[in-house]
Amino acid sequence: MTTAPVTPPAPLALIGLGQMGLPMAKRLVSAGFAVRGADPSEAARAAFVAAGGTAFASAAEAATGASAVITMLPNGKIVHDVLLGAGGVAAVLPKGTLVIDMSSSAPTDTTRLAADLEPLGLVLLDAPVSGGVKRAIDGSLAIMVGGPLEGVERARPILAAMGKSIFATGPTGSGHAMKALNNYVSAAGLIAASEALLVGGRFGLAPETIVDVLNASTGRNNSTEVKMKPFVISEAFNSGFSLALMAKDLRIAADLADHLDLPLPQIASVATLWEAAKAGLAPDADHTEIYRHLKALAERAEA
Ligand code: NAD
Repeated sequence: MTTAPVTPPAPLALIGLGQMGLPMAKRLVSAGFAVRGADPSEAARAAFVAAGGTAFASAAEAATGASAVITMLPNGKIVHDVLLGAGGVAAVLPKGTLVIDMSSSAPTDTTRLAADLEPLGLVLLDAPVSGGVKRAIDGSLAIMVGGPLEGVERARPILAAMGKSIFATGPTGSGHAMKALNNYVSAAGLIAASEALLVGGRFGLAPETIVDVLNASTGRNNSTEVKMKPFVISEAFNSGFSLALMAKDLRIAADLADHLDLPLPQIASVATLWEAAKAGLAPDADHTEIYRHLKALAERAEA
């Protein structure tokens, strides 16, 4: 008896092998997908090749022959450029290919991108993630997916290799809106915990005591649980999520509120505070360095 040759499934392309994209691509490789990564950074490409992927400097080259293209890039403008700019990825994709933007992009950019891709027969899903580098490494990200349900179902096995909680959030752009709102709530929690540390510290409370009490009390949040001790109190400031990217997310959230005619005070002030921190700190500052910005503000006011 002869057995029919088995055609290997078409590979996936993942564009952007950064802090998040690289561990996400590695999860896909571990789950058995063939993955063609792309990044201008030679070090990022080498790290992915060492993990069993193939890697290209050109995104269009990586995407050639792929059944789905994932983007994990700094922002939606770069995603648009990679897909539809000169020599862009969209030109090499057959009709029906899934394009999954897992970056934290602005929802208004996403709806425009979907409209630009539609005449080419390309289906866009916005599927941003939450959980940071640690949960990208262990494949337990939260993933919020906007777009047509048929596309969400097609993407589900791919997303399941990277995340544990997958939410279909509604139409195109809804995943990105949800992600910006999540980061707003997360950033507000980090500011509150940082301010508590500064005030409590000045009063004479030990920083570890402050965090332990918050974590056993109603002030507990993700920052008190997973950020204050390892990244802030230790002054390591190396969580793997940059302050500039958080500032971008907060501006997206505040602009969304404006766009919807909701002049809410705190969402706007958190976005402004983060932009001031970005202007005052090093370009590669970690987002947990918001604590250093708040401390400097307090010391400046005293002087
Ligand atoms: P990063 O800066 O570490 O990675 C971005 C990567 O994209 C870099 O390796 C860069 O070389 C590459 N890149 C830039 N332009 C490119 C192009 N034209 N073609 C191909 N590659 C290109 O950023 P990150 O921390 O991995 O974040 C990526 C996205 O995920 C952002 O939208 C961010 O807001 C979001 N995000 C980050 C975290 C986190 O904890 N770091 C968590 C959730 C979501």
